[in-house]
Amino acid sequence: MVELSVVVPCYNEEESVPMLVARLVEAVAPWQDRAEIVLVDDGSSDATWAAITAALHEHPVVRGLRLSGNRGHQVALTAGLEAARGARIFMLDADLQDPPEVLPDMMAMMDQGYDVVYGRRAKRQGETLFKKATAHLFYRVLNHLSDVEIPNDTGDFRLVSRRALDAVLSMPERARFIRGMFAWAGFNQIALEYVRDPRVAGETKYPFKAMLRFATDALTGFSIKPLRFATRLSFLSLFVTVLMGVYVFGSLLMYQTAPGWASLVLAISFFSGIQLLTLGILGEYVGRLYVETKRRPMYFLAEDTANPQSHELALGGDPAQVGQS
Ligand code: UDP
Ligand code: MG
Repeated sequence: MVELSVVVPCYNEEESVPMLVARLVEAVAPWQDRAEIVLVDDGSSDATWAAITAALHEHPVVRGLRLSGNRGHQVALTAGLEAARGARIFMLDADLQDPPEVLPDMMAMMDQGYDVVYGRRAKRQGETLFKKATAHLFYRVLNHLSDVEIPNDTGDFRLVSRRALDAVLSMPERARFIRGMFAWAGFNQIALEYVRDPRVAGETKYPFKAMLRFATDALTGFSIKPLRFATRLSFLSLFVTVLMGVYVFGSLLMYQTAPGWASLVLAISFFSGIQLLTLGILGEYVGRLYVETKRRPMYFLAEDTANPQSHELALGGDPAQVGQS
């Protein structure tokens, strides 16, 4: 029986993988042959897969999954979680920003009856001021808007129980925001504070565009308040229209001129601005509805070293399969 699965999404992490494996092998040593380290290659274009296969020849505890293409951090993590067989599942990033050495502490907390022990970043080291500021803002705005309480300053670094994981894997949405899904799933959750280290090697795989997309996935996935905001804006525009109506009517009575191009331009830009904004908000949701209704599998497995034949039938993310393993 596998007691502990470690799941790590890796995208172009050829330099990090050897260090990652060394530290993880150390961290899971107390569980020896009751553990597995699942490294998910998210369609890397560098030698990540070679690094993973090299690692598993040296350490049989390592298992490699390779996705058929780059599907993004959250989907790669999902693939690993679906493949994980452990009674407890520990997830972290490949770049060792999240120290594997806190595992015994997380295990001890879980022994006290918690289903989710999530890491909270007491401090982030070696990240740009911009990243820290946007991350700080993101968690606050998200919590303000979302209907579930998503703990501030937490990533996907966490230890979860089998039942909490199965709950999350039973959620079929394609726009994955895994930390939010765990928050939504409920059960007993507790935070463990840790200091976030700088990346050991390579560069961030979250450029600004990816961050923005991640943030909109999170917002639209966990809140419909932006849609209500659109409705409120329309009330505001109604109010402004009434004021302008009074002004227009008044000037009609008082001066017989036909001036007022300024107010015209103002009014047009004000309302078209509001219309574009609300259309945009609507579009975000409609686009996501579209993606969800296609019901495409989230990923395909190109390789699974624990199950070499599996890629012939692997249909990752098929809702009928989710949660069964
Ligand atoms: N990652 C991934 N697929 C991607 C982008 C990132 O699997 O398309 C992985 C990456 O290898 C790392 C984790 O997701 O293990 C977090 O990425 P990164 O460290 O670049 O993000 P940051 O810490 O800068 O927010
Ligand atoms: Mg990182």
